[in-house]
Amino acid sequence: MTLDLSAIQAPQNVWAMAQEQLDDVAGLIGLNESIHGFLREPKRVLEVSIPARMDNGSFRMFKGYRVQHNMARGPSKGGIRFHPDVTLDEVKALAMWMTWKCALVNIPFGGAKGGVICDPKSMSQQELENLTRRFTTEISIIIGPEKDIPAPDVYTTPQIMAWIMDTFSMQHGYSIPGVVTGKPVAIGGSLGRDKATARGCLYVIDEAMKALGRSIEGARVAVQGFGNAGMYAAELMAKRGYKVVAVSDSRGGVANPNGLDPARVAAHKEETGSVVGFTGGERISNKDVLECDCDILVPAALEKVITKENAGRIRAKVVAEAANGPTLPEADHVLFDRGVMVLPDILANAGGVTVSYFEWVQDLAENFWEEDEINERLRRKMTRAFRETYEQSKRHGIDMRRGAYAVAVSRVAEATKLRGLYP
Ligand code: NAD
Repeated sequence: MTLDLSAIQAPQNVWAMAQEQLDDVAGLIGLNESIHGFLREPKRVLEVSIPARMDNGSFRMFKGYRVQHNMARGPSKGGIRFHPDVTLDEVKALAMWMTWKCALVNIPFGGAKGGVICDPKSMSQQELENLTRRFTTEISIIIGPEKDIPAPDVYTTPQIMAWIMDTFSMQHGYSIPGVVTGKPVAIGGSLGRDKATARGCLYVIDEAMKALGRSIEGARVAVQGFGNAGMYAAELMAKRGYKVVAVSDSRGGVANPNGLDPARVAAHKEETGSVVGFTGGERISNKDVLECDCDILVPAALEKVITKENAGRIRAKVVAEAANGPTLPEADHVLFDRGVMVLPDILANAGGVTVSYFEWVQDLAENFWEEDEINERLRRKMTRAFRETYEQSKRHGIDMRRGAYAVAVSRVAEATKLRGLYP
């Protein structure tokens, strides 16, 4: 099956958008011109051709990328996306966002991202394994626990992370769990990693509600995208007392103003492959989910869904970007002017990379923590990042994205300046 993304893809180039977001904050923080130029470009870009054997005995060529944006604060970190619409520009943007995200939650990583142009939904498990192992081999020259550590992203799973870990380990002759995060717990994964992105998102939404003086109990939530980030966000938010009124996935959405039970929607999706057809609500389109009557909107699918065109119709008071890059810069201005608080991706979905960092620390130390401890450490990191962002946004009278960028870019710039230019 090919995904129809036409409805949510706007024309703006996502890499230009990422660069624009950096440019936007440069003046505000007095970013040195040379460092600004340095941070505008990725450190390293690797494009690979991947031959993978198909079930019918033939082999097919795929294209893949690994982009390392910045390593000033530590090894680079970022997920791998398997999707038919992957482009090099998208991977570059996602890598840059990882740099800011890691700096914002203050973990000692730079930013990277990977992607393979493929349609995993039309491939068998064996074909996916073949593709993953060969892609890992092709990028193995630049990844490693001290260099660059991949993780899951759209349509990549803990099983895929296990194949990456095994391939890299086989090539070195011993187990190297620290080469990748988001692994199954049985082979060095961390407790709490599966729900970490969603949990981190919940923590910052809680903080935003507190800052806005709004009540959590019964606050209405709409979630676009019902995968790792969106599904768990809906489940955790419902448990916390929020009311989930609409959810959607690539095939469409379902809504109920009296509240949906996300666990039951998840069971329906598990059974049928989609949230569509769930009997506890009305069918709505993906577009309607964004514009539905709710207090909090959680875009948790793909980029560029909130545009200048629909920003004026968004009714939520808080938009929490579980997805990377869902809001175009021009839409940011519209939302800010309308008093909508946008919790930017580099804050709202930083829970995933934060627990990935905990996973990496546990792997290197060969010492594993209890889930309560992991969640509590995550809560502290997310709450602090929210407060630092909020403080910047209030101090300068700017939106939360610029506030987050001000914190994050300053940290990366400081590390860059301290290290100096080699040679
Ligand atoms: P996933 O593959 O688990 O889920 C993606 C979901 O989006 C699926 O439910 C899919 O049906 C839905 N979707 C696809 N196209 C859609 C469309 N056109 N309209 C509505 N829904 C659509 O992926 P994920 O890991 O949950 O990632 C989702 C977003 O969150 C991405 O932007 C990703 O970069 C971001 N993110 C994920 C993590 C993580 O730890 N998984 C961490 C940080 C950021």
